[in-house]
Amino acid sequence: MNEFDSERIEFILKQMGYKRENNPGISDLIIINTCAVREKAKNKLYGHLGRYKEYKIKNSSMLICVGGCTAQNLKEQILDDFPFVDIVFGTHNISSLPLIIEKRLKDNKKICSISEEGFDYDLKKFKKTYDFKSYIPISIGCNNFCSYCIVPFVRGKEISIKPELILENIKRLVQTGVAEVTLVGQNVNSYGKDLENIVTFSEILADISEIRGLKRIRFMTSHPKDLSSDLIDIIASRDNIMPHIHLPLQSGSDRILKLMNRHYTRDSFLKLTEQIRKNIDNCAITTDIIVGFPGEEEKDFYDTLDMVQRIRFDRAFTFIYSKREGTKAAEFDDRMSLKMKKYFFKELVDVQNKISFERNQCKIGNRYEVLVEGKGPKGTFEGRLEDSTLVNFEYNENDIIGKFINLKITDAKSFYLKGIKI
Ligand code: SAH
Ligand code: SF4
Repeated sequence: MNEFDSERIEFILKQMGYKRENNPGISDLIIINTCAVREKAKNKLYGHLGRYKEYKIKNSSMLICVGGCTAQNLKEQILDDFPFVDIVFGTHNISSLPLIIEKRLKDNKKICSISEEGFDYDLKKFKKTYDFKSYIPISIGCNNFCSYCIVPFVRGKEISIKPELILENIKRLVQTGVAEVTLVGQNVNSYGKDLENIVTFSEILADISEIRGLKRIRFMTSHPKDLSSDLIDIIASRDNIMPHIHLPLQSGSDRILKLMNRHYTRDSFLKLTEQIRKNIDNCAITTDIIVGFPGEEEKDFYDTLDMVQRIRFDRAFTFIYSKREGTKAAEFDDRMSLKMKKYFFKELVDVQNKISFERNQCKIGNRYEVLVEGKGPKGTFEGRLEDSTLVNFEYNENDIIGKFINLKITDAKSFYLKGIKI
């Protein structure tokens, strides 16, 4: 979602006449689009701002702007802590950026523009960064209030974008050459419940898959509590809906899942993954896991590890719990030492990396269609299989980014495959 917002910001600024400059020191305007999911993101912002102060001293007419979730969360505090910042804007204020910037340039007064909620996307006017793939938000905000998570506080309540608008926008993008769309929402599975005419996620997905010329449809994130059998059926039955589900487990302990306010159990999660694998051929399942949630004990951690070993996710994004002020979990007693959390974290990462490695090894010798997404290291290219596994390969033509090619897999690591042209 944050990457999508950055694309929009870039587009809006280009319309104002700005040009992308990768050297911040000589820019007229610097925008930092922040994340707030973990404390580390805030520390990073403060680090960047410390550096940008030097630029501002050298060039006082430079504008420094902070947007995104940390801006939404800290509001005026950013202006208080860093008096050289010119503009702070929230997650619902991106469309107003031209007005905000013009006002700042005219009045020479600092601006903090934060709306608590709302929907300010104009998908029709928006042009994405890549020619061949695009993010499409289908809902913004979140109503789930998982106890550790700051997202509902900084993104507001869940609002679904009207199906007509989504379909019209994707059709327009496909006409301009887009082959792959990734539908984004904090919980795509609850899409449409707030619409006047209720539409389910599987229904909109079925409609999107009918769009001629659209080769690959991806989506994220799926909350396990809302993933329906209809959705599994539709993925299984449509060739252009990719066999990959990102299904965050967060914890494998029923006690911790309850404290996290996740509304599913080990057992229901296991059954769901079995149903996915039984019905969707070669479906990749990836996940997010938090280690060291307040109150987590050794037994809970080993319940998580047990789930990881049983389910054998293709990949997992693993995080050490980060306390976010204002969330429910911030009030919980957190007694496990950081040393212990890091120890468990490493154990989890080691186990998962081995599983990812083994799952990738099974692909050696197979042939796949790959969408070439960009350049890899040392003159190679990178692309993705249908199940979203990354492949690195050499190719004797140069003009292949955005195209589909066929590769044979020759080697496999934990995080990527190697392939050759066939
Ligand atoms: N809406 C998505 C996730 C958004 S945040 C979902 O529900 O799956 C992405 C991931 O960051 C989460 O899945 C979770 O694993 C992690 N995360 C969120 N808050 C966190 C926190 N306070 N500490 C550590 N990890 C966190
Ligand atoms: Fe956060 Fe839970 Fe909403 Fe995901 S579903 S954004 S983890 S509150």
